[in-house]
This record gives sequence, structure tokens and C-alpha cells, in this order.
Amino acid sequence: MTSPTLTTALPYQDPALSIDERVADLLGRMTLEEKVGQMLQLDARDDLDDHVLRRHAGSILHTSPERILRANDLTAQTRLRIPLLVAEDCIHGHSFWPGATIYPTQLGMAASWDAELVERVARATAEEVAVTGIHWTFSPVLCIARDLRWGRVDESFGEDPFLIGELASAMVRGYQGDGLDDPTAVLATAKHFAGYSETQGGRDASEADISRRKLRSWFLPPFERVAREGCRVFMLGYQTMDGIPITTNDWLLTDVLRGEWGYTGTLVTDWDNVGRMVWEQHVQPDYAHASAAATRAGNDMIMTTPRFFEGALEAVERGLLPADAFDAAAARILTLKFELGLFEDPRLPRDDLDEIVGSAAHAELNLEIARRSIVLLENDGVLPLDAAAPTKVAVVGPLADDAQTQLGDWAGGSGQAGWLDSQPREMITTVLDGLSGVGGWEVSHARGADILTLEDDPQGALFPDGQPRPRIVKPCAPDEALIAEAVAAAETADVVVAVVGDRIELVGEGRSTATLELIGGQNALLDAVIATGTPVVVVLMASKPLVLPASVSQAAAVIWAASPGMQGGRAIAEIIAGEVEPSGRLPISFARHVGQQPTYYNQIRGQHGDRYADLTQAPAWGFGEGLSYTTVAYSDLALERSELGRDDIVVGHVTVTNTGSRPVRETVQVYVRDAVTSVSWTDRELKTYRQVDLAPGESARVRVEVPVADCTIVDAAGVRVVEPGEFALLVGPSSREEKLLGVGFTVE
Ligand code: BGC
Repeated sequence: MTSPTLTTALPYQDPALSIDERVADLLGRMTLEEKVGQMLQLDARDDLDDHVLRRHAGSILHTSPERILRANDLTAQTRLRIPLLVAEDCIHGHSFWPGATIYPTQLGMAASWDAELVERVARATAEEVAVTGIHWTFSPVLCIARDLRWGRVDESFGEDPFLIGELASAMVRGYQGDGLDDPTAVLATAKHFAGYSETQGGRDASEADISRRKLRSWFLPPFERVAREGCRVFMLGYQTMDGIPITTNDWLLTDVLRGEWGYTGTLVTDWDNVGRMVWEQHVQPDYAHASAAATRAGNDMIMTTPRFFEGALEAVERGLLPADAFDAAAARILTLKFELGLFEDPRLPRDDLDEIVGSAAHAELNLEIARRSIVLLENDGVLPLDAAAPTKVAVVGPLADDAQTQLGDWAGGSGQAGWLDSQPREMITTVLDGLSGVGGWEVSHARGADILTLEDDPQGALFPDGQPRPRIVKPCAPDEALIAEAVAAAETADVVVAVVGDRIELVGEGRSTATLELIGGQNALLDAVIATGTPVVVVLMASKPLVLPASVSQAAAVIWAASPGMQGGRAIAEIIAGEVEPSGRLPISFARHVGQQPTYYNQIRGQHGDRYADLTQAPAWGFGEGLSYTTVAYSDLALERSELGRDDIVVGHVTVTNTGSRPVRETVQVYVRDAVTSVSWTDRELKTYRQVDLAPGESARVRVEVPVADCTIVDAAGVRVVEPGEFALLVGPSSREEKLLGVGFTVE
């Protein structure tokens, strides 16, 4: 696969000129149609010839391997031979490339709390993506997940703005590498800017009821961080806020993003945001007005609204826009193409891509992050099992051997891409595979339950825009015969590993759930195997925190593995067998009941009472929690100085001791409480954390630092400020108040 040779006759084709000069020269040669076309990002599964030759599209997405080459042949036939930007959702690995490495979902990776590791995963993903001719990934997601019913919780880094910022920043660094001229760099996209996750009732892309102050308090900080650090693309959310779609939200796009934060990168809409203003949100009368409004608001790339082309041209004809209205956007897109060097080398799929895609080194990295993504929530001491001792293990549950479900959303079997329906089975280790490989164990298997079937939605197979409408989930009834088989296996076993959770049909866009419970025959299965009295290790393999049945309080152990990717089953088996220490910590709280929503830890102070009449408000497991196979004690928290000025750094020291008999990687979490605030605020916020490895019996004096400048609130005017007064530094193993040591300090 070779690149076509360009005639280097025109200034814009001359790599010796500066990018600004090349852009200016090219822009000067472009017709109005060509400029509008540059702003189009169209679906490569549709008519490519029409996209490239008639609409002059600047970018394509959802390209199968063959379509990338076809698209490149087409651009070679165009007047100016402007290369295409090729984009894809490569969000936990190269999602839709057959044989690519699929890592745990973002939420799973977040449980590692390890930015350096997440950066390495993004780097490895970029290497796989770049060799396949794709220049741009729509990742990472910086949405804050507060309503567990939302279908896209799995795509987020969880509920805490600081942790999200750390991990998103790492991922952006990993994707973009050392700069866009590095052939392994891909464009990163911070999405979905901003507030998209704060929908009503968890319903996907509904109006977000969110004030500017609330945005500034929690939702914007992770975006601000990556904007300032040079994330090259921002994707705009679907929803409206205060009546305004993000696509035309001047305050957010112009005043905040480009103004306050000085962002010079590119903006891409989400899927048909411009069309949606006409046919879904009914806030624009026609495509001419919608295209004019989106252009005026500073959008650069218009994702999958082919009619933006006609709409924009009509807007000029009708005087809604001047003819030069598209210059700034076209220039920004062309700049990216020059920076990536696409005019010299369109970065087509490389001949040696099979050596990089799905490589052994990436499988090793995948195993490393899968191990770190798993959270041990409960353990009565049954774990770890002894890998060497002859042990009868009954593996039950519908997800014990479901290879594709283990990969989660945005992967081979998740249905978003038409050209593959799975990833190679041999690349995936299920829990059954993993446990079957452990030393002296005798493993039996019984599915025990089915989860769901699907029915057609009576409203039809497609939405008005032609997108597929998800089919309706019908939970399966408990199946007595399947349960009896699992119970028989449990009764003759030394230990049961029950793998339960959700399936892809309950995850993703337009697939929010009204309940959080395990559906189908799964609760009945757990009740039955736990009732046998054989110790049961519950492995919750679920895209997001779910609610477990009451019988689980009698289980021997509970493990959460959030769609753990190709190596997930092996990592889980290694942890159960004690070959690897569990170290994951929750990036998001678990509810006991769906009616407790929201359960995030950093809620605003002030409420009559602190519980429901019929239920506590406390989460089942809270943000930051996770067990190890040892115990850890925190003591002697002290500050170097307790009276500080605004430019100072709060420096604390805490003794962390491994008081058990196994090694540990402990995540030392540091929260700050502002005692009295001028406006209502949360009781504690994560400000930093440190991970320390301790051998059995070992102690470390851990130094933690929080700049006073980070001890902020957002005041009534929406300004982020440090308010002088009393504060507390809280240090411990999780966000649970009773687990935190505290020490006061004052800011003058
Ligand atoms: C999603 C985005 C995604 C885009 C392209 C949209 O529906 O909201 O997250 O990047 O589709 O596939």
C-alpha cells in the first residue's frame, strides 16, 4: 500500500513552507463548496464517492480497512487532492479493528488510579490505530458519571473531577505522543463537552439541568485541564442546557473554551448535532438556519450531517452568513492535516500492521491493566484460594464464558460497526478459561441462568434519522433446570465462582436502564448457589455499578470487573488464585438501590436528615473503596505547617503500615474539607493521591502535597476562589468519612 505522489508544484504542496503559509495558499485556491466540504465528517459506510467527489468531505469516520483505501483513491481524483482526516472511536483499544487489543473499558481502567499505566495503554492504542490508517480517535470521555442509570457510565472515568482530570490528561498524552508529526500520534478528543452526562433520569442525551456554576464547579475542570494541555479536539455533547444546544452555546464555546482557556484546537460536533437542532430539538426551522448557527458558534467539523453542505451554501445565498464564514474552520482543519503531514503521506494502512495490531507486547500491557482494574469489594477470608492445593471450583453464571460480552461496549461485538461482529475468540481469556488454567484445580462449569432476549420496538427499527433503534430488552425468567445444574455443581465443589453482570444490550447510547439490578435468572441463581453453603465468590462483570441481591451479604467474596477486556478472565483468575494482589479502587460509588440515585461521594452539604425513611443514603461501596489481601493501617497524620498563605503548599505526612501477611499496593487518598464556605459546597473533595507498595509488616511515611491554590470553591458569581479560613486535610484509604484521618490548617 503506497501513498500517491503529489506534484509539488503549488505553494501549499511545498513542505518547506510554514504551515500558516501553506494553509493561506490552499484556502485562497478553494471554492466556497470546497471550504464547506472541509467541515464535513461523513460516515464512510455510506456513499464514499458522493462524500468525496460531490460534497468535498474533509473527514470520514467508521471506516472499514478497505474503505480507507477507497477513500484515498477518491481524494487523489479531486482538484486539490486534499487528504482526508480519518476518525474512529478507538476508546479502549482499537475498538473495531479485527484482531486489535481490547483493554478494559475506561471505567475499568479508572479503577487502577494509575495515570502512568493509562498513558501507556493510550500510547499502545495509538500505535495500533496509526498503522491502520486512522488519524483521530474520539477518546477520552471526560463526562462525570453521577446517575448510574445512564447507559454510558462505562465510557467515563467515574464520578470524581480530579481523578477524571488525571486519567484524561494521561490518555491525551498517550494518544498524541510526542507531537502530531510523530507517525504513531493520533488526535485525541475530549468529549462530550460539557454536562452531557447530567441528563434527566439518566436518559441519554436529554436536557441537562445544570447551571453555569455547577458546570464550573465539577463538570468543566477536567476539560479545562486538557484544553490547556493541548488536547487537539473537543467533541460537543448532544444535549441542550438552559434551552441551548451545545452546538450553538456561545458562552461555553466562545467565552469559556476559546476565551478563558485560550483553546486553539478544533471542535467537532457529535453525531448529527446540526441536524438534530432541526428534526429532534426543533430549535432551528431548517438546515440553512441550523448550518448558519453552528458555523457562527465556531464549530469546525460537522459530524454526519451531510445536509450541512446544502444548508451552509443556502445560508450564504439567503444572506444568513457571509461567504468567508467558513474560512476559520476550514483553516483549522487544514492546519491539522498539515501538522499530521498528510499532504506528504496520507498515513494509509501500513503493510506491517499485523506486527503491531494485537501484538504480544500489547497483550502483556492489557493483562497488566486488567489486573489493576479489578476491585475486591468483600472478602470473608476465603480469598485468595491456594493455586497449588487440589480444589474443586464450580464456575457458574451466564458471563463465566461469554468472551465478547467481557469486552464491553465499543468493541467487536457491540454492534456499532457493520464490518465485524466479534473479536477473535482465541485472543480472549474468559473467567472459565482463566480458572481452568490454574494449577491443581478441578473446574466444572454450569451457566445457571440466562439474562435477556430482545424484542422489536413497536415504534420501528429505525429512528427518524435512519439510525438503528435499540431493540427492547426482555429479562429471561429464572430457569429451574439451569439453576439445578449450577446447584449440583456447587454442592460438590469446594468453592463457587459465580460470574454475573450485564450484557451489551443494557449498555451504551440510548440504552440507559431504569433499574440497576441483575436481570434475568441471575438473582435466583445467586440465591440458590449461596444457599448451598459452599463459599461463593461473586464476580460482578458489569459495565457499571449494579445492585446485588440481598443473598450476596452471605457470599464469601465480591469482585467487580468492569468489562475487563481480552485479558480479563486471566486477571480475575490470577487474583482469585492469589497470584496477583487485588489493588483496584472504586472510581465510582455503588448504590444499594436504584432509588438512591445519585450516590456520588462529593454531594453538597445541607439536607434535613441523612437517610430515606426506608433506606440509608449510604452507598453499598463508596468512591475510593477496594480491599487488598492484607490489612493496612493509617496513623500519625501531621502537617509541616498549619498556617498557610495562598501561594503555599499544604504538606502532610502519614504513616501507612501493611499490617497483614501479603504485599499491597495501597492508594493513599487525600481529600480537602473547607470548613465554612460562602456558598454551599461539598464536604470533601479528592485533591491528590499516592500509590505505595508495601511488603508485609512494612511501614512508610508518605508525603502528600496539595497546593493551597487547589483548595477552591466556586463562589456565587461562578468564580473559582480560595476562601481564607479553616480547612482540613483528610487522608485515608477511601472517601468514607469514618476511614479518614484529619488534620486542620488555616489559610490567611
Ligand atoms: C457518540 C460519540 C461518538 C460518535 C461517533 C456518537 O453517537 O455520542 O461518543 O464518538 O457517536 O461514533
